[in-house]
Amino acid sequence: MKKGQSTAIAILLATLYLLTVANSIAGGATASKSNLPVKWGELTALDFVKAVQESGGICLIPIGVFEKHGPHLPLGTDLIDVREIALRAATKEYVLVFPEYYFSQILEAKHQPGTIAYSPKLIWNILQETCDELSRNGIKKIILVNGHGGNNSFLPFFSLAQLEKERDYCVVLFRPERDPMVQEKVEKLRETTTGGHADEAETSMMQVSRPDLVHMDRAKEQSGKDLGRLKHIPSKYTGIFWYAQYPNHYAGDGSYAKPELGELLINSQAEQLVELVKVLKKDDAILELQNRFYKESRDPLKTKQ
Ligand SMILES: [Zn+2]
Repeated sequence: MKKGQSTAIAILLATLYLLTVANSIAGGATASKSNLPVKWGELTALDFVKAVQESGGICLIPIGVFEKHGPHLPLGTDLIDVREIALRAATKEYVLVFPEYYFSQILEAKHQPGTIAYSPKLIWNILQETCDELSRNGIKKIILVNGHGGNNSFLPFFSLAQLEKERDYCVVLFRPERDPMVQEKVEKLRETTTGGHADEAETSMMQVSRPDLVHMDRAKEQSGKDLGRLKHIPSKYTGIFWYAQYPNHYAGDGSYAKPELGELLINSQAEQLVELVKVLKKDDAILELQNRFYKESRDPLKTKQ
C-alpha cells in the first residue's frame, strides 16, 4: 500500500468513525426525545428515570384554575391555555410537564358557578408538598408557569417564601418579558385596548388551544365593561376590587378574537419558556446562590466578621 493510499484510507476511516459517533449522538438524542413523553402521567416508572435525566431535573408546573371566563369560554380556560404553552415548549426542549394543576387563588369568583376555590392554606400546602415530592423524585429545578391572573400575588410570594428554610431544589416562576417585535404585531392585530379576562387576547388563545370550546356567538351576551364601583376611593387596594370592577368575570370583549392573535401570544410565551429551560439546563447559579445563602444564614455574625 502506497503512503498516499494509506493516508486516504486513514482519513476515510477517521471520517466514518466521526460520522458514526455523530450519528449515534444525534440518533440517541433524537430517539430519546421522540420516545419519551413529556407528560408526567404518561411515563412508565422506569422511563421516568430517563426523563428526569433528559430534562436536566427540570419540571414545569403549568398552573390554571376553574373559574368563569365571560359567557363564552370554558371554566378551564387558564388551565387549557397554560398547558398548551408548556407542552409546546416541552416538545421543543425536552422537559417534564406536571399533570393538570388547578389549586389556585380564586376566592374572588366564589359567586360564580363552577368555581373551585380552595382555602389559602390548602393552595399553599399543596404547592409546597408538590414541590417537595418533585424534589424527592430528582427534580431540583421547578418552573411554575402561571396561567391565572388571580395568582399574581400568590406565586411571587410563594417563590420568595422558599427561603424560609433550606431546600435542595429551587422554584423559578416563569415571567415572560414583553417582546417589542411581538408587541408591535399584537397591537396591529388587536382591535380592543381594554380587557384582561376572557377578552380579545384570551379568547384568541382559546381559539388556538381548543377552538371547539369557544362559543363566539355568546361573546356579547354579557358585558365585560369595568363597573368602577370603588373608583371614588383613592390610593387603595382591597380584596373586593375585582368584584367591584368585573362581577361577570368578563373584562374586555372576546367577540374580536382571531386565531392569528392567539397563535402569536401562545408562541411568544412558549419560545421564551424554551429559552428559560435551555438556560436552566446548563446553569446552576440559582442553586449555588441558594446554598451560599443558606450557609451564611446559619451563622450571619460569623460570615460578616
Ligand atoms: Zn383566564
